[in-house]
Amino acid sequence: MPKRITPGQIKKTNRQLIYDYIYKERRVSQQDIAYALRLSRPTVATNLIELEEDGLILKNGQLESDQIGRKAAAYSITPDFRIAIGVEIMLETVKIIAVDLYGRKINCVEREIQYENQAAYYQKISEDILKFISSLEITVSRILGIGFAMQGLVSADGNTVTYGKILNCSGLKIDVFTGRLPYPCHFIHDSDSAALSELWSSPELTSALYLSLSRHLGGSLISERKIMFGKHGHTATFEHIPMDPDGKLCYCGCRGCAETICSMDALLGNDDPDAFFDAVRSGAAGQTERWQYYLKNLSRLIGNLRLVVDVDFILGGYLAQYFTEEDIRYIYEEIRRNCPFELGNDYILISKMPSHNINIGAALPYIQRFLDDIGPGTGA
Ligand SMILES: [Zn+2]
Repeated sequence: MPKRITPGQIKKTNRQLIYDYIYKERRVSQQDIAYALRLSRPTVATNLIELEEDGLILKNGQLESDQIGRKAAAYSITPDFRIAIGVEIMLETVKIIAVDLYGRKINCVEREIQYENQAAYYQKISEDILKFISSLEITVSRILGIGFAMQGLVSADGNTVTYGKILNCSGLKIDVFTGRLPYPCHFIHDSDSAALSELWSSPELTSALYLSLSRHLGGSLISERKIMFGKHGHTATFEHIPMDPDGKLCYCGCRGCAETICSMDALLGNDDPDAFFDAVRSGAAGQTERWQYYLKNLSRLIGNLRLVVDVDFILGGYLAQYFTEEDIRYIYEEIRRNCPFELGNDYILISKMPSHNINIGAALPYIQRFLDDIGPGTGA
């Protein structure tokens, strides 16, 4: 039998189209919507009434209209109609953030607490999250879910940490949180959540390798706007590429991994980043030499990775804020010296999401899923 589109499906599509358009344009009139989507005014009007009754959109002042002397009601989406929570778990701190449907921070808190793979720790963090949620003073049904960014690899379903040597939590199940919190929860590899934030803030981005240059090195491969998971879930774990067989011991148990050479820890140890870069920029010999040695090795790493994937490279993580144009030029020159191909100066980018990128990214999958399906029944 030939497939037919039912009236219900058309209605749903129009509802989604209209919502998406308002979301994208932020503030529009009924007339703008009808014109842009080639829909009849009555169809748009009916959908606007329903979306407004459901609480998904709201009237937001007035806009000039075509008819002289008349103004039209402006519509916007209700940005905090649904909220998602992102939690970044690190060895000594936990960061909790709430984001709205535009992925914008509503509020965040940071707690100093030593990670321990113990029930008491998960209990304490869960209590902190509940306290944070209640401080938002919103009805709990507006919370879509909680994403936990972990310093480790995570199973495709987000339910298990499959490799967590930094926190020593390999095998950890999401039950430690779902058993204590009345919301959907999932784990996400912290580099992937940083890459998701980058995608969110860069609509033009298609494929890229994201390098997280923070205390630890990490990364994520973005292919056609999707995070590439791979056959066994360890795509883009270039932090364990051997760069020096006689080098320092990496937490993975091998020697001289990129982690021991290109991470922020490798560059700075316990030194303060601001003080270090002040010294570099004022020409202090020791610090300048360390920074150049770091840039040389980072260039070697990027140059090698570029032979595998010819995409944009995004420098993200805590160190990203300190790179200057001159540093990037130096990296291009270093790579060019050792590369058989003619390369342009157009593939190294600095992250657009310098702060909160990891915990925002952990929350974004819930927001995206919600925005992708606001069909009838998605009411207040
Ligand atoms: Zn390693």
